[in-house]
Amino acid sequence: MDIRVAKTAGFCFGVARAVDRAYQCAEETGKAYCTLGPIIHNAQVVDDLAKKGVRVVQTIDELADNETVIIRTHGVPKQIYQELEAKGIPYVDLTCPFVKKIHTLVSRHHEDGCRILIIGDSQHPEVIGINGWCDNSATIIENLEQAESLTPTSEKVCIVAQTTFNKNIYKKIIFFLKKTCQNTVIFDTICNATEERQAESQMLAKEVDVMLVLGGQNSSNTQKLYQICSSVCSEAYCAETIDALGDLKQFQNKRVGITAGASTPAVIIKEAINKMENQDKDFATLLEESLKSINSGDVVTGTVIEVGPTEVIVDLGVKQDGVIPASEISDDPNLTPEDIVKVGDEIQGYVVRVNDVEGKITLSKKRLDSFKTWEAIETARENGDILEGKVDGVVNGGIIVTYKSFRVFVPASLANDRYLTDLNELVGKVVPFKILDLNKSRRRIVGNIKTVLVAQKQELEKAFWEAAEVGKKYTGIVKSLTSFGAFVDIGGVDGLVHISELSWARIKHPSDVVKVGDSIEVYIKDIAEDTKKISLGYKNPLENPWEIAKSKLNVGDVVSAKIVRMLPFGAFAEIMPTVDGLIHISQIANKRIGKPQDELTIGQEVDVKIVDIDWENKKIALSIRALLPEPEVVAPAAEEAPAAEEEPTSYTEEVVNTIGDAVEAPATEK
Ligand code: SF4
Repeated sequence: MDIRVAKTAGFCFGVARAVDRAYQCAEETGKAYCTLGPIIHNAQVVDDLAKKGVRVVQTIDELADNETVIIRTHGVPKQIYQELEAKGIPYVDLTCPFVKKIHTLVSRHHEDGCRILIIGDSQHPEVIGINGWCDNSATIIENLEQAESLTPTSEKVCIVAQTTFNKNIYKKIIFFLKKTCQNTVIFDTICNATEERQAESQMLAKEVDVMLVLGGQNSSNTQKLYQICSSVCSEAYCAETIDALGDLKQFQNKRVGITAGASTPAVIIKEAINKMENQDKDFATLLEESLKSINSGDVVTGTVIEVGPTEVIVDLGVKQDGVIPASEISDDPNLTPEDIVKVGDEIQGYVVRVNDVEGKITLSKKRLDSFKTWEAIETARENGDILEGKVDGVVNGGIIVTYKSFRVFVPASLANDRYLTDLNELVGKVVPFKILDLNKSRRRIVGNIKTVLVAQKQELEKAFWEAAEVGKKYTGIVKSLTSFGAFVDIGGVDGLVHISELSWARIKHPSDVVKVGDSIEVYIKDIAEDTKKISLGYKNPLENPWEIAKSKLNVGDVVSAKIVRMLPFGAFAEIMPTVDGLIHISQIANKRIGKPQDELTIGQEVDVKIVDIDWENKKIALSIRALLPEPEVVAPAAEEAPAAEEEPTSYTEEVVNTIGDAVEAPATEK
């Protein structure tokens, strides 16, 4: 059997909303409810609600004391509200919002002096209710003949329609009324749900051999559906349940279409599908399925058969499907059902409610996940396991760490292994923690981060000292800077890179080279076993400028140099990056000068000759004079030349400030 079911079959928005709310009322303890007329035109739903304590009354006079009235989707005349309020009778108004809108339109136009025309069934409760909002003064037009018999008028007419009226007939009536009434305001109040259901059912009825319309005999929209379907399908049936059709074998090998009225519960549609499909199932399978019962509070497993933006449908292997509303799938409001599951997935859910009438079992994945998470937290506490969560904020006295769907409070004193002046620096970080305390009834969880960090640090320290040795390389993180160097975490232990170890060039502060948080390559230069202090090296020996200079420079070489500093006894010139040599004052010119500034300026480029090199002490003597012609010797004058001022004749007599020896600045530099 080829079974095709209309997507629009069954409860519309207004009916689903009302039935759902009526069942919630039935579950309330200590309150009595009754509906004013049957809640919907479906005997199964009405009977089921009655069994649950929600009885049906026809008039307000039948109400017992303390009973609350449920106003059904069809709505009621204005006078009913006035009566309920005058008598102080509580009520729950489940009038469909679309019907309510018609009440407002009719009431307003009636007050404006318009004549009201309602296109619909004069005996239908919805039409009776609408008429009650214009003092029962409306003209009700049920068919084209009545429209044709209307006396032409020039008065202002407001036209509305019953929400479930047949759209095609409505159009014909309106066409005619526009001619008869010259001054009209028309509101097409036929509900989209009705229109869509009628259009889809008609299409389906054209495609199949047999068309089945499920719904109550007194349901106006079901009867209209049947009319539409039977006009295009030669074998159409209208029945309250599938059982009314007798032996289903008569439909074997046929294409069967199924649609249903707005007040037909899903369970009736599902039952019809099941019974038609089960033609081919053996007795054992059917028995097994019928024995399976699912109750609120169960945890069930099923297969995802449909994923939509608002819910996920799950096949549970029983006659009802499981429905997981989008809000019950995940705690993350940014995720849609499509992000989490796909058709064919196996999924577990907690049974929130079983509604046989609606034919659905409401499930919650979120709640089941929450139960599982709580169990994991309890286990973690018993075993001392470490959990991980994200710090979501700072509260009075501590921080909040989110672990899955739970908030864990961590007191400030346990939020870190060191004192933090501002706990906000932890916000957004993922932190490890242990469970310190739990209170299931209050859902209170207290965590401890400090104990985990201290233990981790001890482990790292132990491992470090077991493997530490001079020369060993590490990738470390700069933890802090001082004027004399940088402290670097090399895996649970901090070592110091002295400022002189940070660069081959002269620097004023460690921050010239590194900053806190940098990841840098270091090696152990020295370990003080007694104090457990570690000196680290950072400079690359292969980049030592003096070693590079050694391979390139020789005594006698003539090189270009830049004057970088001048002192009374000479000028320092840079001959390679960070390698300076001294041009003694006597070697600056081929004549006697009073001070280096007489011949040189800072930044000046000069050619110099290397006259001496002391690699060990990193000293290079340079001479400009050696490249100049010696002046002619003039015969001494009679007057004796004054004795030369005592000054250093060689740079070796001075402490030369060289790269790599920055801390030993010569006194003369001050
Ligand atoms: S058919 Fe439309 S108007 Fe009527 S109850 Fe359903 S949703 Fe409301």
